[in-house]
Amino acid sequence: MSISEELLSNYGLRNTAFRKKLLKLFQNSESTLTVEKIKDKIGRKNDKVTIYRALSSFEKSGIIHQVPDKNNVSRYALCTSTCNSSNHTHHHAHFICDHCDNTLCLEEIDLPKIKTIKGFKFKKTELIIQGSCPKCL
Ligand SMILES: [Zn+2]
Ligand SMILES: [Zn+2]
Ligand SMILES: [Zn+2]
Repeated sequence: MSISEELLSNYGLRNTAFRKKLLKLFQNSESTLTVEKIKDKIGRKNDKVTIYRALSSFEKSGIIHQVPDKNNVSRYALCTSTCNSSNHTHHHAHFICDHCDNTLCLEEIDLPKIKTIKGFKFKKTELIIQGSCPKCL
């Protein structure tokens, strides 16, 4: 069993050829991935519904998480190995490059602790940093 097959079966996901390819793409990709990019790389024959379905089950299983995107399209990044379906929260900042439009996870930067305000219930904090990534500098 290859690493990606093992990962998929650990997560209890249907081990289709497309999902295997998708997982490999995330593992081998330096950048985070949009649906368009996935379609470009492996999705020619697969319709968007197939891609969205695979992405959403990967997300539920703690394999990938959604990251902000410069043009507000859906973009995903591989999770660290500590994520699974029941523990899938992130406390890191995200970086959007002004030049290549890539979004990167900045695991080194923790989200600031936000004091709750009376009458509100906060669910999620997002910290987005913009600038130039190492590749574009
Ligand atoms: Zn995660
Ligand atoms: Zn860049
Ligand atoms: Zn991230």
